[in-house]
Amino acid sequence: MNATPLKLKPSAPRDRTATLLRDWRVLVVDDDVEVHAVTRLILGKMRYKGRGIELLSAHSAAQARSLLEKERDIAVVLLDVVMETDDAGLRLVSVIRKELGNIATRIILRTGQPGQAPEERVIIDYDINDYKAKSELTAQKLFTTVVAALRSYETIVALDKTYKGLEKILDSTSTLFNVHTLQQFAAGVLTQLSAFLGCQPNGIICVQYDPDTLHDSHPPSENVRILGSTGKCYGCNMGEGEGEGAPCSNPEMLEVVRQALRQQKNQLTDEYTVLYLDTGDTQATAALLHGGLGEADENDRKLLELFSAKISIALANALTYQKMISAEQAATTDFLTGLNNRRQLLRLGLPMLAGARRNATPLAVAILDIDHFKRINDTWGHDAGDEVLARIGQLLTASFRSSDIVARFGGEEFCILAPGLSAQEAFSLFDAFRLRLAKERFAFDGEQVDSISITISIGISTEVVDSLDTMIAAADTQLYRAKERGRNRVEVV
Ligand code: GH3
Ligand code: MG
Ligand code: MG
Repeated sequence: MNATPLKLKPSAPRDRTATLLRDWRVLVVDDDVEVHAVTRLILGKMRYKGRGIELLSAHSAAQARSLLEKERDIAVVLLDVVMETDDAGLRLVSVIRKELGNIATRIILRTGQPGQAPEERVIIDYDINDYKAKSELTAQKLFTTVVAALRSYETIVALDKTYKGLEKILDSTSTLFNVHTLQQFAAGVLTQLSAFLGCQPNGIICVQYDPDTLHDSHPPSENVRILGSTGKCYGCNMGEGEGEGAPCSNPEMLEVVRQALRQQKNQLTDEYTVLYLDTGDTQATAALLHGGLGEADENDRKLLELFSAKISIALANALTYQKMISAEQAATTDFLTGLNNRRQLLRLGLPMLAGARRNATPLAVAILDIDHFKRINDTWGHDAGDEVLARIGQLLTASFRSSDIVARFGGEEFCILAPGLSAQEAFSLFDAFRLRLAKERFAFDGEQVDSISITISIGISTEVVDSLDTMIAAADTQLYRAKERGRNRVEVV
């Protein structure tokens, strides 16, 4: 048998929009050239739901197989039984269903020799959808049969898409419940959304400042800020104040986001997909992704709504967590240096002191005070003074063990509780820190200020008594001694 070349258009990558409007693809498999011509005559001009028919031809089961391996969106196969062998067509059915795992394509068997493949046996034993003798297939019957097949193919594809969409929604939201920072969450949502839409994860998550500012009288960038970004959008649309809360500066993107926030609805355009995330919070949020569904069908819209509803719950969860963390942080942390505040030091210090007393182990309490700090403020300004405090905070964190408690006690005073140190060890350790700081150079306004060396005086108490306040007061007395004796030194008792 001479294999005629397949009449196939090259399969260029297609976007989703194109797939939606594409002609129905029907494959004719028959070794009789005449059958191809007749089928083309009957189905060539047919239209169903506004879409025409693209006929593909294969002249043997082998040819059909290689075609079906490449093309996944063939709606109907009109299949001859006797070709290379007496049962070539029947074997191809098994290949399509079992080997290629294609259960959506509708298979209509057309046989010229019904005796060769009796209808009752074949329809039960093989996963085909219709069986016709070529003699009974008039033009009208073929038309009716193909329409019925297209209708059920369409339903199967829609169901499959829904199923896969639901599966992705379930997968995505379970991972989102485990992230705890808003930036991580934002990246997670965009990644999941892009997987859902089948496009690249280029996008941003925005939050509105205040619903009253969403009207046109306010400049757009004033009312929407970026919470997180991924892919090509990563950092690129951030205006001033990069990072969380940066204003969005792309007017086109901004307008679709504002639309979603104003209407409290998802926006699907050719270029963007924007999900409105309703967290029940006063600050509404929207996720924007470059890449649109274009002419999304009803099914796509419903899935996206479900997806946004699930993500909204996860977002509300992340927001609540963030609030709890911020409240906890504000209550325990010094804003300027990020160190423990005085309250937190006293709270953490009590069990530490109790442990030292119970186990009769040493504990050092040290108070550090910057020498002549007022001069820095007076000479270089208060911001420079703040910078010095923050730098010393970093140095302290880097220099002491994680088991020590380092705190900003107030003003330009720091307090450190270091368990397990004898008076001698405490002196060596803190004196080393004093020297290390004295060697540091500070730059104000970007200018290196070599002449300014910052020194500290340190008072330490290592007499473990029953009250932390008493130990701190004793360390403070030593600090005064250090100041009296010329500053930039350590005194221990
Ligand atoms: P001494 O060596 O005796 O400790 O001198 P001093 O100048 O360091 O001490 P004084 O108590 O006279 O001044 C402390 C200064 O610390 C005054 C105050 O304005 C400044 N200060 C306290 N808290 C802050 C802060 O958060 N930021 C800045 N920039 N300065 C602060
Ligand atoms: Mg034949
Ligand atoms: Mg001071």
